[in-house]
Amino acid sequence: MEFTTTENQRMIADMIRDFGAKHIKPSMRAWDESQEFPVEVFKALGKLGLMGVLVPVPYGGSGFGYVEYVTAIAELSKIDGSIGLSMAAHNSLCTGHILQFASEAQKQQYLPKLATGEWIGAWGLTEPNTGSDAGNMRTVAVQDGDYWVINGAKNFITHGKSGNVAVVIVRTGEVGDSHAMTAFIIEKGTEGFSAGRKEDKLGMRASETTELIFEDCRVHKDQVIGQVGEGFVQAMKVLDGGRISIAALSLGIAQGAFEASVAYAQERQQFNKPIASFQGISFKLADMATEIEAASLLTYQAADMKDRGLDVNKESAMAKLYASEVSVRVANEAVQIFGGYGFTKDYPAEKYYRDAKLCTIGEGTSEIQKLVISRAILK
Ligand SMILES: Cc1cc2nc3c(=O)[nH]c(=O)nc-3n(C[C@H](O)[C@H](O)[C@H](O)COP(=O)(O)OP(=O)(O)OC[C@H]3O[C@@H](n4cnc5c(N)ncnc54)[C@H](O)[C@@H]3O)c2cc1C
Repeated sequence: MEFTTTENQRMIADMIRDFGAKHIKPSMRAWDESQEFPVEVFKALGKLGLMGVLVPVPYGGSGFGYVEYVTAIAELSKIDGSIGLSMAAHNSLCTGHILQFASEAQKQQYLPKLATGEWIGAWGLTEPNTGSDAGNMRTVAVQDGDYWVINGAKNFITHGKSGNVAVVIVRTGEVGDSHAMTAFIIEKGTEGFSAGRKEDKLGMRASETTELIFEDCRVHKDQVIGQVGEGFVQAMKVLDGGRISIAALSLGIAQGAFEASVAYAQERQQFNKPIASFQGISFKLADMATEIEAASLLTYQAADMKDRGLDVNKESAMAKLYASEVSVRVANEAVQIFGGYGFTKDYPAEKYYRDAKLCTIGEGTSEIQKLVISRAILK
């Protein structure tokens, strides 16, 4: 087992730190307040190769593996979880689905635009009444000659409004059949396809989350990804990779909250001593550091296995479950270490705390990760 950081990982981390200091840190509070998705930052990250990390170079991507991808998302999320979430959703979900399952012609058409960040990607699986139980979806596509006509709605979709293209999974057969759902690529501007309400969220407020609405939306059969009926099976495989990115997002938020806590604990004086000198605080830091290390090992193990082409169904769920719960615990302790100042918007702890909570929910809740893990153990 190798535990060393590669030159590529170091280069990516340095690049993101520099970029973040100049282009994210000065405005992230304002974006959080106003819930603005900073499209210009997304595009600039695209120019740096971060919107096509896993996409091979011939399609305009960076051609890296999951280990580098985890480093990039964690480093970005250390600064701002919202930007990390946008990067994860774009790379793993929309672009990842096309990369893994689309035809060569579809790849040629969409990957270069997505991988360079020229286009923003969205991915729609969740519906208002079916989240954890996504296989029970009710948005339906009915075939009409060379076209499919889609009706229904998806919700909680990252980049639902700003996205130039969405991969959506909809029902094309009987409820209860996991081979009765199909993935379509749908471009913004397609008649009958629109964004609905934008969510007003607790955290991750600079990452846009909206409904997608389909009203007699006609999509040509060339826009089907892979085989008709295989969309749900494809989506589950996409999520196996996606969960590694949410583990990385969780890790970055936890690392950010931890680093801020270490600095504050050494600086803040009470009883004429830095609060870090009290065992009640230093033991918190010890627990935080240990849990972050364990989360990091699980996350990089899943990434390494994915890079080696192994099945990561259980390992990505374990990494996502553990790292996201650690992220929430660490962010909670960070607020505690900052005391009253942790409860204010003048210090970073409260934002880490709000952002971390999404990680135990998005791309499958902690309870659903336990379902995935226990199924893998008991099969
Ligand atoms: C900010 C944000 C961004 C998102 N981005 C996307 C996106 O881009 N694309 C997309 O498709 N979706 C997206 N989602 C949706 C997300 O994946 C779902 O919210 C998530 O899967 C949970 O579904 P739900 O919200 O309907 O909760 P529910 O499924 O209603 O769950 C409610 C509670 O019940 C529990 N529960 C449900 N079933 C079980 C069970 N069998 N056993 C034990 N407990 C159970 C859950 O764990 C949870 O605690 C996003 C969500 C958010 C908040």
